[in-house]
Amino acid sequence: MRTDNVEYCTFSGWVDPPADILPALAGDLTCDVAVIGGGLGGMSTALRLAERGQDVVLLEAEFCGHGASSRNAGQVAGAPGGDLQLLNLFYRKKMPGMVRLAERAAHYVEDLIKTHGIDCDYEQNGNVFAAVSRGQLGRVRRVAKILHRAGGHVELGTSEELGIPRGFLGGMREVVGGIMNPGKFTSGVRRALLDSSARVFEQTKVTDVTRDRGQVVLTTAQGVVRAIKVVLATNAYAGEWDITPPRLSAPIWVIEVETEPIDPARLAALGWTRRSGLVTQHNIMENYRLTPRNTIVFGVRRLERGTTYPLPPKKPDPALVEELAEAFARRFPALSDVAIDRAWGGWIAITSSWLPLAGQIDDNIIYSIACNGHGLAQAPYVGSLIADLLIDGERHEDLAGLWMKKPKFPRPMMMGRLGLRTIWAVDRFNDFVNGSRRNARRGSTPTT
Ligand SMILES: Cc1cc2nc3c(=O)[nH]c(=O)nc-3n(C[C@H](O)[C@H](O)[C@H](O)COP(=O)(O)OP(=O)(O)OC[C@H]3O[C@@H](n4cnc5c(N)ncnc54)[C@H](O)[C@@H]3O)c2cc1C
Repeated sequence: MRTDNVEYCTFSGWVDPPADILPALAGDLTCDVAVIGGGLGGMSTALRLAERGQDVVLLEAEFCGHGASSRNAGQVAGAPGGDLQLLNLFYRKKMPGMVRLAERAAHYVEDLIKTHGIDCDYEQNGNVFAAVSRGQLGRVRRVAKILHRAGGHVELGTSEELGIPRGFLGGMREVVGGIMNPGKFTSGVRRALLDSSARVFEQTKVTDVTRDRGQVVLTTAQGVVRAIKVVLATNAYAGEWDITPPRLSAPIWVIEVETEPIDPARLAALGWTRRSGLVTQHNIMENYRLTPRNTIVFGVRRLERGTTYPLPPKKPDPALVEELAEAFARRFPALSDVAIDRAWGGWIAITSSWLPLAGQIDDNIIYSIACNGHGLAQAPYVGSLIADLLIDGERHEDLAGLWMKKPKFPRPMMMGRLGLRTIWAVDRFNDFVNGSRRNARRGSTPTT
C-alpha cells in the first residue's frame, strides 16, 4: 500500500468541525441538571431531558462531537464489546443483559436517525466477526454459541454465505446494527440538541467539580454553573478531576485510516456483497468497512495508553499507519497498490472489566463512562436511560445491569504500556504462525 501522501488529521476523517461553534459560557447560571461533555453520551442525555421538559445545561470543552463520537469506525455493534469468552467466564449471569443492551442500543440509534431525520449513510447490514485463521474461526464459533445462548441474533457462515471478502475464512454476523458515517450522525444529534430547549455552551471546559450547600458547582474559565444534579459524560477525559472515582477507566488512543477512492469494479471483485463491517478476532482487533465514497476505512490493531491528564491532542503515529497498511495488503492482496489518503485517531475509555458502566457519586452526580469500543450505539442509549432515571427516579433494566453499587474499581489488567505491547506481540506471533502454515500449504516462503 502507498503511504507517502497521508493527511494526518487532528480531528476526524469523516466530517469537518461545525461552522457554527457556540460561544463559551460567560457569567454564572443555575439549572436543574448540568451535563459535562458533548459526545453522543452527554448529548443524548441532554436531548432527552430537554424533550421531557427539564431545565438542562450542557457544557462542552471544544464543540459537541469533538471526541470519539465523530472519530470512530462507524460500526454500530449488535453485540457487547470486549473478549466475550472471558466475559462469559467471569460474568456469565450478566451476558443475557449485556446482549440485550447491545441490541437495544443499536435499535435506539436507528430510531434516533429516523426521529430526527439524520442523514448519516446508515446501512442496516450488521457487522461480522471475521476470521483470518482457523484458530480465529474456532474462536468465532465459540463466541457465536455464547451469544446465541444469551439470546443474541447472530449467524455463522463461510465468507460466501456471509457476503464478506474471500480473503477471510468466514465468521459470525451480528444481525442487528450496521455501518454509518459517525461524523454525520454526531453532527445530526448536535443539530437536534441545538434545536431543543437545552442550553448548550461549547468552548467551555469544566475545570473543577465541587459541592456547595446541596448543589454541585462547576467551574469554567468565565463562569460558574450551579446544578442540583450533574452527569459526567466525558468518556476518556474523566480522570481529570479529583471527584472521578479512581481507576474508573484507562484512556486509550486508537486510530483509523481511509484509503483513496477505489474503482467500484475492483471493490465488487472482493465478494463483499453484503457490505457488513468486519472485525477480526485478534486480541486487539483490526476493523474494516466500506464507505459510500468507495473507500475502505480500517484501523485499531494497536492500543496506546494515555498516561497524563489533560489528555493531549494527538495525530496518528506514521509507524502505526505503515503497520495498518501492511495488514491491509495481507487481508486484501488484490488492493495492495491502493493508497491511504488520511489517518486520524481518538481517545476511548476502557474499563477493567471491558463492560460499560454507570453509577452515582453521592446522591447528585451520575457518571456514565466507558462504553469501551462500542459506544457509538451504547453511549447514546445509556445516556437516554440516565435522563429517564433523573426524571422518573427509576433505573431501566438495561441501566440497572451496568449500575455500580459503589464507585470502586480494580486496577485495569494489561492496560499499561508493557501489557498492551505484549498483547500486540501475541497477535503478531499468531499472524506469523498462520502465515507460515498458509505458505507451507502453498509451498512458498513464510511471511508474516
Ligand atoms: C478510532 C475509534 C474507533 C472506534 N470505533 C467504534 C465503532 O466502530 N463502534 C463503536 O460502537 N464504537 C467505536 N468507538 C468508541 C466510540 O466512539 C465511543 O465509545 C463513544 O463515541 C463514546 O461517546 P462519549 O459521548 O462517551 O465520549 P466522547 O465522544 O469522547 O465525548 C466526550 C466529550 O467530553 C468533552 N469533555 C472532556 N472533558 C471535558 C471537560 N472538562 N469539560 C467539558 N467537556 C469535556 C470532550 O471534548 C468530548 O467532546 C471508537 C472510538 C475511536 C476513538
